This record gives sequence, structure tokens and C-alpha cells, in this order.
Amino acid sequence: MLNIILMGPPGAGKGTHATWIERDYQIPHISTGDMFREAMASGSELGNKIKEIVNRGDLVSDELTCALVKERLSKPDCAKGYLLDGFPRTIPQAEAWEKISKEIGREVNLVINIACPDAELIKRISTRRVCPNCGASYNVVSMKPKKEGICDLCGHALIQRKDDNEESLKVRLANYYKSTAPLLDFYKSRNLLHDFDGMLGAEKLKVELNKLLAKSK
Ligand code: ADP
Ligand code: ZN
Repeated sequence: MLNIILMGPPGAGKGTHATWIERDYQIPHISTGDMFREAMASGSELGNKIKEIVNRGDLVSDELTCALVKERLSKPDCAKGYLLDGFPRTIPQAEAWEKISKEIGREVNLVINIACPDAELIKRISTRRVCPNCGASYNVVSMKPKKEGICDLCGHALIQRKDDNEESLKVRLANYYKSTAPLLDFYKSRNLLHDFDGMLGAEKLKVELNKLLAKSK
């Protein structure tokens, strides 16, 4: 069973690797960031509130985030495994998820952490482009799409995320170290944590991740 939490600072490569893991291991990739961006695009009152928080790089409340994840992870497509990306992001979220996942019989059995130094993250995020339609991410320097500005997977025009600017990234990194990095010890003490080097390069990291996933499934 692969009930996975994918961790790592913004820009470490979570989205990139989640894309092939979802396909190759047939488990749904659930990104709270994508869920919030969908809510933001809907133009609802809640979506507009979320937009303000996300665009300045801050975290959405634990309560709202946990409620959203509980609803999504309770769906039947998550019964045979899931890949959670961007959640939990705080200790209260991790504690809540421990309880909820037990209740719904979907406990985490693997936590993958992709580590990466700040200087590299800043470089990657400033040159990142994403597909607002399917969530695929690219980089204008290191992971160019086949056709400039167009998503390889779905043909939609690529955009730069509003929170992928220097100022918001500073807030996101500060939040990461303050609120999210403590989760590494939380999962280490539960013997669930597996560390990977985000500087390896996407192809080499994929090989390493595949070794772990193949023996865990
Ligand atoms: P990244 O990992 O590149 O920073 P994500 O796409 O995972 O970005 O998330 C984008 C934004 O969505 C975050 O900066 C935050 O505002 C919000 N968000 C995503 N997941 C959570 C979460 N678990 N708790 C609170 N806020 C979240
Ligand atoms: Zn796309």
C-alpha cells in the first residue's frame, strides 16, 4: 500500500515527481496548493479570501485545510493509496491527519522528503512556469516545454504563479522553516521518513525514488 506524504520546501521538485508517481503507481496526486488554486479561480467568496493569503505566501488556516483534505481523501479513489503533496504543513495539521486518517482507515505509511538548499530554490522558483489547467510545472532554464509557453501534456498556455515572486517566496520559505520543517522530526520518530537529495537532478532522483516505491508498494 502506498499512502504517501511528499514533503520538501517550495521548489524542491514535489510537483515534478508527483506527476510520474501518480501515473506509474496509479495513485491520485492530491496537492493542497492545487486545491486552493482551484478555489481561487472559482471566484467564490471563500476563494477570494484564500487568494489574498496564498498570494502573499502565507498559510491557509489549519482548520480549513484539514477539512478540505479530509473530504478529498475520504473519496473512493484514495482507497488503494494516495500521494499527498503540500499537506500536512504544520504540526497541528500532522496531528489532525494522524487522527483522521486512522478514523477513515487511510494511515500514512511512507513520508518522502526532498531536501534542497535555499539558493537553489530561489533560482528555480523565479524561473518556474506552471500549467493552470493540469498543474504540470516547467522551468524556462532547466525544464523547458517542447513548445515555448505551452504545456506538453495538455496544450494549455503556461503562466507564472502570482506567489512565485521574490517577496512571497521569502514568506513561504520562512513559513517552511518555522512551521513545516519540524514535521521531519515528527515523522522520523514514527520511522516513516525517507530523505532524498533534491540537488540530484530529476532523472537521478526518479531512479532513487523508484527503488523505494517499488519495494514499498
Ligand atoms: P509550494 O510548495 O510551491 O510553496 P503549493 O502549491 O504547495 O506551493 O502551495 C501554495 C500555497 O497554498 C502555499 O503557499 C499556502 O498559501 C497554501 N497551502 C498549500 N498547502 C497548505 C497547507 N497544507 N496548509 C496551509 N496552507 C497551504
Ligand atoms: Zn497542462
